[in-house]
Amino acid sequence: MSDPAIEAADRAWDERGFDASAADIAREALAPIRELHFQSTRLPSRLYRHCVTCRTPWPCPTARFCYTTEELQ
Ligand SMILES: [Zn+2]
Repeated sequence: MSDPAIEAADRAWDERGFDASAADIAREALAPIRELHFQSTRLPSRLYRHCVTCRTPWPCPTARFCYTTEELQ
């Protein structure tokens, strides 16, 4: 049985050692979700930005939970 939270902690510790912070581990947990929800770059116009997975205007509701405010601008 796999546990995504434990797997994220393992990845964070592998990359950053046991000094990995809770934020580092949380970022690792969100990484697979970010791989699914990203904005299309096919049409760079701000008017046509959309989530590749959801096909809704960018940022999609899921992206709002896994990207920083700066990344969403
Ligand atoms: Zn999405």
